Amino acid sequence: PPPTLDANGVSRCCHVVAMPYPGRGHINPMMTLCRLLAARGVAVTFVVTEEWLGLLDSSPSPPPPPPPPPGVQLRTIPNVIPSENGRAADFSGFMDAVYTKMEDPVERLLDRLQPPATAIVADTYLPWAVAVGNRRNIPVISLFTMAASLFSILYHFDRLPFAGDRRLSVDESDKPLEQFIPGLSSLRLADFRTFSSMGTPLKRALEAFYWVRKAQCVLFTSFYELEPCVIDALRSELSCPVYPVGPSIPYMTLEEKQKKPILLNRSDKDYFDWLDSQPKNSVLYVSLGSFLSVSSSQLDEIAMGLRASETRFLWVARGDSSRMQEMSGVMGLVVPWCDQLKVLCHPSVGGFLTHCGWNSTLEGVFTGVPMLTFPIFWDQPPDSRLIVDEWKVGLSLKEKVGKDNVVGREEIAKTIKRLMEDTVESSEIRRRAAELREASHRAIEEGGSSCANINSFVRDLLVGHN
Ligand code: UDP
Repeated sequence: PPPTLDANGVSRCCHVVAMPYPGRGHINPMMTLCRLLAARGVAVTFVVTEEWLGLLDSSPSPPPPPPPPPGVQLRTIPNVIPSENGRAADFSGFMDAVYTKMEDPVERLLDRLQPPATAIVADTYLPWAVAVGNRRNIPVISLFTMAASLFSILYHFDRLPFAGDRRLSVDESDKPLEQFIPGLSSLRLADFRTFSSMGTPLKRALEAFYWVRKAQCVLFTSFYELEPCVIDALRSELSCPVYPVGPSIPYMTLEEKQKKPILLNRSDKDYFDWLDSQPKNSVLYVSLGSFLSVSSSQLDEIAMGLRASETRFLWVARGDSSRMQEMSGVMGLVVPWCDQLKVLCHPSVGGFLTHCGWNSTLEGVFTGVPMLTFPIFWDQPPDSRLIVDEWKVGLSLKEKVGKDNVVGREEIAKTIKRLMEDTVESSEIRRRAAELREASHRAIEEGGSSCANINSFVRDLLVGHN
């Protein structure tokens, strides 16, 4: 039967409550998903902490994501997470609070909500949401905002030979993960080396992967063509539907595709004026994420390597900006924050030096900008492996790490030139990046794999509550 819609085309009987993990890299893709749901007539309530409501509402640097679209209402729970400006000073304490302090206030909010929630879409790293849904007898959909490959690793973690803190031998490090888990052809055990020393965050993540088995559906911000083998393997293994609905992009850069001018905030104007005056594909955009930093000696080597490569650059540097300001000059610009997606869309940008956070990885793929990878921890080393070895759209800056665990400036300069100069190798990378960009655009267009997945998902939701 057709779903019952009100005069505004919003479902009368299906009310989804969206619960993102409290971090920008999770809130943005959840909001993107909610826009897609709202556009298909689903009523959505988006729940954040009071702190995040402030961050979404105010416009300090970094700027807020766009306001929620019609059909999505924002509701808050009290500030139960110890953080500053949305960031954790102590990551273990932060995760502990996310796992233990949010459930009660969310329950109280759900008790008051009218019309009552008929489904919950929760970040996979909020395992208690599954219990909340089960108690209320409403389905819980788990949204994983990192690579499907990482989901598979955490789902099958007990198959990996990481006993306690035992270090992997060199032979073991190079073992393909496919020996243990199907569908992960290019990943190596070594890509998960940082996991075994993670303590609390790893324990917490594995707890989430116990609960995800009880969810009624799993959504990915990835798209099928990006990780087909692992998605096929998960589909045959999980008992619930698996829908990749990405690439999840903070807002549609279809302006870029349709060649309309991109709208700029006043604060963006300076670096865009600078980008406008640079030759096509000549600028390396450098960002090592909104969350973690590399050591100061490593930062120095990257800066010196960049200088030695004589490549133009736009560098986003936060706390370290005073030392970085010295780098601003004829060849480059250092800014505390930029609108990354718009920067990646700019024709002058020809390379992206990234820490390989999953959102940055998807944005690099979506804009077709070849990447230089500098992964730091958690999902970043496996994302780097996918970028370099599986999709072949970039080069790793971490091939040769010195004894002091620092990559030296000569190595950095050499690799930057390999990517940015016009050679047979770099043209092949550029060709692959353009191919993957087209595949990512096709996935979210009408008739594409992600668009079909989101339609199937919404049909499940509406039919289930009609
Ligand atoms: N970002 C941005 N401007 C910046 C730095 C980051 O817009 O100057 C955005 C970026 O586009 C991405 C997000 O912040 O969407 C970072 O998420 P990601 O998963 O890449 O990394 P995290 O910072 O969570 O480690």
